[in-house]
Amino acid sequence: MDVERYWNPILETLPREKRERLQLKKFHNIFKWAYEHSKFYHELYSAAGIEPGDIRTFDDIRKVPKVEKSMMRVAQGKDPYPYGDMLCVPLEKVTEYHQTSGTTGQPVYQPDTWQDWDWFAEAWAYILYAQGYRDYDRVFLPFGYNIFIAFWGAHYGAEKLGCEVIPGGVLNTEARILKMQELRATAMMATPTYVLGMADTARRKLGIDPARDLQIRRITVAGEPGGSIPATKKRMEEAWGAKVYDHIGATEIGAWSYECTHQAGLHVNEGLFLVEIEDVNTGELITAPGKRGKMVITALDRMAQPCIRFDSKDIIEWSPDECECGRTFRLIKGGVIGRADDIVKVKGVLLAPTSIEEVVRSILELSDEYEVLVTKKGDIDDITLKVELIPGQESNIDAIKAKLVDQLRIKTNLGYNLEFHEYGTLPRYDVKAKRFKDLRHRE
Ligand SMILES: [Zn+2]
Repeated sequence: MDVERYWNPILETLPREKRERLQLKKFHNIFKWAYEHSKFYHELYSAAGIEPGDIRTFDDIRKVPKVEKSMMRVAQGKDPYPYGDMLCVPLEKVTEYHQTSGTTGQPVYQPDTWQDWDWFAEAWAYILYAQGYRDYDRVFLPFGYNIFIAFWGAHYGAEKLGCEVIPGGVLNTEARILKMQELRATAMMATPTYVLGMADTARRKLGIDPARDLQIRRITVAGEPGGSIPATKKRMEEAWGAKVYDHIGATEIGAWSYECTHQAGLHVNEGLFLVEIEDVNTGELITAPGKRGKMVITALDRMAQPCIRFDSKDIIEWSPDECECGRTFRLIKGGVIGRADDIVKVKGVLLAPTSIEEVVRSILELSDEYEVLVTKKGDIDDITLKVELIPGQESNIDAIKAKLVDQLRIKTNLGYNLEFHEYGTLPRYDVKAKRFKDLRHRE
């Protein structure tokens, strides 16, 4: 075995049977821990008539009640303040405070002990090592991480590998680019929106071509779906002359998946997490590739505020492929395809906003920016797509328009009102973009 290839050569190559035995044992342990140490979990499981002795097989796990974000919000209104009765440790054992971004409602607080925090960094170490980060890398993080967990985890994970880490918060975009150039940073991590935005700023305002003038060769993206949308990924890789790798994680879950250097999909870290995929309508377990469903996930080792059978609402599917890297951690295909609650029905057609991104970003005469507005005229849905032409393409507008109409029809089954805007006039976003706006009144 090529041990240099893996952060944890044993766990990452464990045969399926052994890995499942380990997951089952760990699930039993975290269930027992939560049952015995948290009032919330004790009541939830007692009401369902399940106790630790009942968890013996994977079928038993399926009977354990799921937890949703809305339940966490209710629990966090109780004592002890501010975490509520999901908490499994005395308050004084909590050393880390983070919270969710609140894009889908009231933020959820995330307490971690120092042991949990070490686990979080460890999960990130798997990610970065698999993406080729080594101790000689100088990693630039162009963000103020604030109270959000992801890039703090990345920071500590990179340090575990022995990388040199440069926190690039406070600086503005131009200053960050100049600092990366000055220090010859070799890797960076950001949201896809910001990766593209930085390249644009570098070219327009500084006359710097990131692919030619900077030494960034590895970029890890997170926080948005772009890293698993081929057209967006290609734009980022070309702009920076770097390999772009996707990662998906969440505050209340942990850093559960990563692309390796083979870029064949995202590996689920099945040493630290248990992922189940459920049919959205029937709730049945999906084990075969090729069928999409909702992810239900358990963090097997997180102790302060356990995440057990968390109903993430993320839509994913197992990949039919095995990765050439030799990891036995299964792959999911296409990242998180959407969220069960953001796949919308427009004119009676189910639409995942990511499919519009794929179309727009695959047409090279269009800029990185676009905006989608869904409105209602009387009883009829109306959908408008605003795009920008790259300067110099004005005379080709008819051909570009025809291509766009065709591709949108093929990929999304919908017709759109198309608006072409002058380059640079659609809103730009610093971190996470809000390009899809559903303005219909919801009942
Ligand atoms: Zn792989």
